[in-house]
This record gives sequence, structure tokens and C-alpha cells, in this order.
Amino acid sequence: MFRISQYIADLLDPSPPAVAAPARRRVLPGPVVIWNLIRRCNLACKHCYTTSADIDFPGELSTREVFAVMDDLKASGVRVLILSGGEPLLRPDIFDIALRATSMGFYVGLSSNGTLITEDNIDAIEAVGFDYVGVSLDGLGDTHDAFRRSAGSFEQSLKGVRLCREREIKVGLRFTLTQDNYHDFPDLLKLMDGEGVDKFYLSHLNYGGRGNRNRRADAVFAMTREAMELLFETCLERLRAGRPAEFVTGNNDADGVYLLHWARRRFPERAECLRVRLAQWGGNASGVNIANIDNLGNVHPDTFWWHYSLGNVRRRPFSEIWNDLSDPLMAGLKQNPRPVKGRCARCAYLDVCNGNTRVRAHQVTGDPWAEDPGCYLTDEEIGLPAETWRERAAPPLARPLSKPGF
Ligand code: SF4
Repeated sequence: MFRISQYIADLLDPSPPAVAAPARRRVLPGPVVIWNLIRRCNLACKHCYTTSADIDFPGELSTREVFAVMDDLKASGVRVLILSGGEPLLRPDIFDIALRATSMGFYVGLSSNGTLITEDNIDAIEAVGFDYVGVSLDGLGDTHDAFRRSAGSFEQSLKGVRLCREREIKVGLRFTLTQDNYHDFPDLLKLMDGEGVDKFYLSHLNYGGRGNRNRRADAVFAMTREAMELLFETCLERLRAGRPAEFVTGNNDADGVYLLHWARRRFPERAECLRVRLAQWGGNASGVNIANIDNLGNVHPDTFWWHYSLGNVRRRPFSEIWNDLSDPLMAGLKQNPRPVKGRCARCAYLDVCNGNTRVRAHQVTGDPWAEDPGCYLTDEEIGLPAETWRERAAPPLARPLSKPGF
């Protein structure tokens, strides 16, 4: 996760740059665990990475098993749990799980589609004391409903947001940017402001597209760049107006490098200080500071690696699975710098971005260490000579990752 507002606030800070220390990547005592407790969902969203449906999926972890894993996570140094799904509120024991997690001292987030946050359960949601509730909105009104394939879901989700606000539960909007909802993005930022919501998470679609293409001309990349500019400027404007809000992004670590280029234009005198801080952040953290446990107990380096299991918490403790470097993918993810190839290997900002999203490289080329096809920066922006792209035949489509193969 890339915390834009934190860095832009630093750019505005008139005190002298405090960052003289060498850039050293931050490794947490235990990863942030995104835990898909249930695959069932009352919606069937177009971009759902868990391909959920409104049916029960067999073999999910029982309450007792979840509690046992929680004990192990605590002992492994994990401090943050994001309870997700499917729709986590469909799990009958969700409040038992969440209450136990908060009482154990975890920072606990709830990632919901918002439609099931109602007058009937808002007391229970409040009683848990979630540190954060994230509600997904994919645009306004009809745009959202079309994405969610459910008429009226926008109003239901917004009602969920409002109920949380009324109870002073920290709630944020989660927005996945695509070509089909890009037009709603500015209005969604206005909606956030109007509703008094003070956190906005922009998730980039895990878009791979074609391999070596002209980044300057690519429509999706152009939209991404415009969206990022709007996010930076909105964040800056709110800070200057004394109404700070949290703006964060995910699934494209090139965002850090793009922010640096923006800062070089807007705050040239503070940009080099920012560069040091961005290297300390260190870019993509899948398999290091981010972990995922799916509904069946399989552990993955992040939520997009569901086709690749590192092990199952029913058979091995999480801590053992997580630290087992005999797994070639984990060994590479934990290596610093990662064994990336192509333009990522030659990038002048590899220390800031860390080679971005490996699952995207793997899905497009079959090689988890190939350059990330979702990088929206031009060659000049990553310190290479002017674009030398040339059209090539489309690379092979995603194929399953087999461990012995790399
Ligand atoms: S070239 Fe690779 S390492 Fe550099 S910014 Fe793009 S994705 Fe990140």
C-alpha cells in the first residue's frame, strides 16, 4: 500500500528535511495479513479476484481453526489483520472472530462491499471496535451497479458508509480504477468529501495488457497517469485547506516513482528528500510485509497469487510457511533486490518500486521475474534512453505457475 498523503504532507512541511539516514527498506516484524475468511459473496463483481458467488464453498476454516491460526499469527509478529472475503459479513461467526482479534491487540480492518452494513448489525460492528472499515465503490450510481451486477447496490453501500460515519467508525472508500469507471473518478472524490469520509484507497486493476508496447500512447496508462495527478492534487489541496484526508493506492508500486516525478515539478527543493523516504518505503512488499490467507487456509504472497499456495495453515503453522525460503517464489520475493528482468532490472528506481507486481509479470509472460507489463512510466521516467519500444506479437496468456518451472 502506498500512502500518498503521508509523503505529500512531508513536502509541505516547512521544517528542514530530517532524512539524512541512508535509505533502508522497512521490514515489519510480521506481515500485514489479508485474510479471506469466506468466499461467499452476495454480489458477483466483474473484477473480483476471488471469483466469489452467492453459494457456500466447502472446506472453509472453522471458527476453532481460525482462532488457532490467530494465535500463531500473533506469535509470528503479525500486528495487522484485514478481514475480507467474499463478503466477510456473511460469515456467521464474523463478530466472534473480529472481537477475539481486537481483544488480542491486532489492528483489525474489515473489507466489505458495504451492502450488508445495516441498522440490524451496526451495533455489533461498532461493538467490535474495528480500526478501519473499507467499503468498495466502483463509481457512482449506475456505474457501480453495473460493476457489481446488482441494481441498487450503490445506494446500499453508501448507506453502509453513512451508518459507519454516524457511529464514528473510521470508514474509507475503496475504488478499483478501470477504463469503464474512470469517468466517475473525479465525482467519487467529491462524494468522499461531501460524505465526510477521510480515507480513499485507489486500487489499480491488475492490468497486464500487451507486453512491450508504447507506454506514452497506451490509453489505460494515460488514464492511470491522469488519475494519479488528480489524486496528488486533491490530496495537496485538502492539506492546504486544513482538511487532511488519507489517500492511498495499491497494486502498482510505480506510483511511488510517479509521485517523485510530480514532486520534482511541484516541490523541486524537497524532491530529493522524498526520494530517500520512498526508498525507505521500498515499493512492492508481497511475500515480505504483505501476506494472504485464503478461505481454505492456503497461504499466498498476496491476494492475487491464489493460483500459487505456499502451504496450508491446517498442516503447518503460518510462521513456518512464511519463513520457508525453499519455496522459489518466496526466496525471490524476499531477495533484495529481487531478481527482476527487462526494464525493471535496468530501472533507476528499482529501490523505490521493487519491481512492482510480480503476479502481473507472471500472468502475461509465464515468468514471475519478467518486467512488470503494468508499469505506466516511460523509459525516460525510469532513467533509460528515450522509448525504444516496438510492437511485438502479444505474449502468451496467463498459465499456471508450476514450482519446479522457475
Ligand atoms: S520499470 Fe519496473 S521497477 Fe521501474 S518503476 Fe516500472 S515497474 Fe517499477
